Amino acid sequence: MSKRDYYDVLGVEQDASKEDIKKAYRKLARKYHPDVNKEENAADKFKEVKEAYEVLSDEQKRTQYDQFGHAGTDNQGFGGFGGAQDFGGFGDIFDMFFGGGGRRQDPNAPRQGADLQYTITLDFEEAIFGKEADIRIPREEECDTCQGSGAKPGTQTKTCGHCNGSGQLNTEQSTPFGKVVNRRVCHYCNGTGTIIPEKCSTCGGAGRVKKHKQIHISIPAGIDEGQQIRVTGKGESGINGGPPGDLFVGVRIQPHDFFERDGDHIYCELPLTFAQAALGDEVEVPTVHGNVKLKIPSGTQTGKTFRLKGKGVPNVHGMGHGDQHIQIRIVTPTKLSERQKDLLREFNEIGGHDTTEEQHSFFQRFKNAFKGE
Ligand SMILES: [Zn+2]
Ligand SMILES: [Zn+2]
Repeated sequence: MSKRDYYDVLGVEQDASKEDIKKAYRKLARKYHPDVNKEENAADKFKEVKEAYEVLSDEQKRTQYDQFGHAGTDNQGFGGFGGAQDFGGFGDIFDMFFGGGGRRQDPNAPRQGADLQYTITLDFEEAIFGKEADIRIPREEECDTCQGSGAKPGTQTKTCGHCNGSGQLNTEQSTPFGKVVNRRVCHYCNGTGTIIPEKCSTCGGAGRVKKHKQIHISIPAGIDEGQQIRVTGKGESGINGGPPGDLFVGVRIQPHDFFERDGDHIYCELPLTFAQAALGDEVEVPTVHGNVKLKIPSGTQTGKTFRLKGKGVPNVHGMGHGDQHIQIRIVTPTKLSERQKDLLREFNEIGGHDTTEEQHSFFQRFKNAFKGE
């Protein structure tokens, strides 16, 4: 059977815009829709229009058609589009006829594929510096064997003879008020408008199969726990030529032994000996960006916090870096040699005035509190 040129079918120029193609299609679809047009060849015309639109409205299919003609769209040909036998999209025509009210779910209407959700667990550093990752996700895809048509290779789907491909049956009922037309889903074809005489053995006629797909994702530096990455178009493939869904990758971050993260800031604790804190010191502090020298002033108290500017997490939106906050903890020695003990006793006898004064005032305030002063 020789096929008419798709552009001729829609009556548009080869460089027609998407909008013009859509307009032409709607006009013709309305004219030939089997529910409206009762002429004998209306259903075939409708299908021709539908098929032309399905190819020309899809950028990829249109390019392929422009290059290879109908060979590129033939199910038996190379890289066929599949689904060329499915003439969906009645939905928006019904909207035009009935103002959107009473719209039914047409199983042949183009539908967006489902969104998919995946969770990736990252090391503390991976979340800070970003990562390129390949993940394997299970998703539904068009069946390769039948190119999504559901028909056994070498066989064709047929237009349902009961509903003429519309997927619906009308029954007329005479009532005292006149004729009432009931419309219901054609049960011969389950509303698809097509019959599959020999089903594809791979997908059992569904046209879709579950597959594991490897997908490459780029995790941006600075991503945080609970945030997710949207990978557009990597969800399940669309149905009846609809667009694919999106893939959402949620992020979990493993805790770190030494660092804690809050937004773009990193927190850690630095243990110091009493002597280091009292006399002052210079110590090396680890940061995610490498070790940094930190000056500890003499007389540093436990709980004191130092800030290393810009040594935190790069902001995921590119708004600079967070800081690293270091909290000092003075560690009291538990194992002392006799000599150390002697020195500390001596220290206590000759000095420690500051401490004694502080203690004195503390006990004074403590007593006053009980006296209610
Ligand atoms: Zn199949
Ligand atoms: Zn039917």
